[in-house]
Amino acid sequence: MTHIITSLCVRDRGCIDVCPVECMIAGQPINEWPWIYIDPDTCIDCGACVPECPYVAIFPEDEVPSAYTAKGGEYISRADLTGHFEGTNHHGGPIVLDTAKQLEPGEVVDFTPDIQPNYDFFKTGPGYSAKDTDNGM
Ligand code: SF4
Ligand code: SF4
Repeated sequence: MTHIITSLCVRDRGCIDVCPVECMIAGQPINEWPWIYIDPDTCIDCGACVPECPYVAIFPEDEVPSAYTAKGGEYISRADLTGHFEGTNHHGGPIVLDTAKQLEPGEVVDFTPDIQPNYDFFKTGPGYSAKDTDNGM
């Protein structure tokens, strides 16, 4: 199994540094790969990243919610969305996303479609080579 980062990820980057096997990679280009991605072949399911995420975006693969009920106000980010999100990441740097959407209270979201992109990023996407163009955002 592996852990999965869902579209609740807004690139806070709090998780990346704690991974003991360095398998969390910031997606590039951001509009195409807006999250941080976990290499499923390398993740050891230690769970260390989960409590580091202030947006509660990381789940064991078999616990990814299929019917998440939004508190309201939280953002999701997916490549096919066009809303704007700005914030400050774990290191004090800027976060700017143009693939975001703010959820309404009670809105129900299925996060299971977010599982496959975590695999695709390393199979058909940039994978570890995204580190070469990582600008810290
Ligand atoms: S800490 Fe959470 S929001 Fe931040 S990059 Fe990691 S998964 Fe994404
Ligand atoms: S569960 Fe552990 S090994 Fe897997 S991505 Fe998180 S910190 Fe890394």
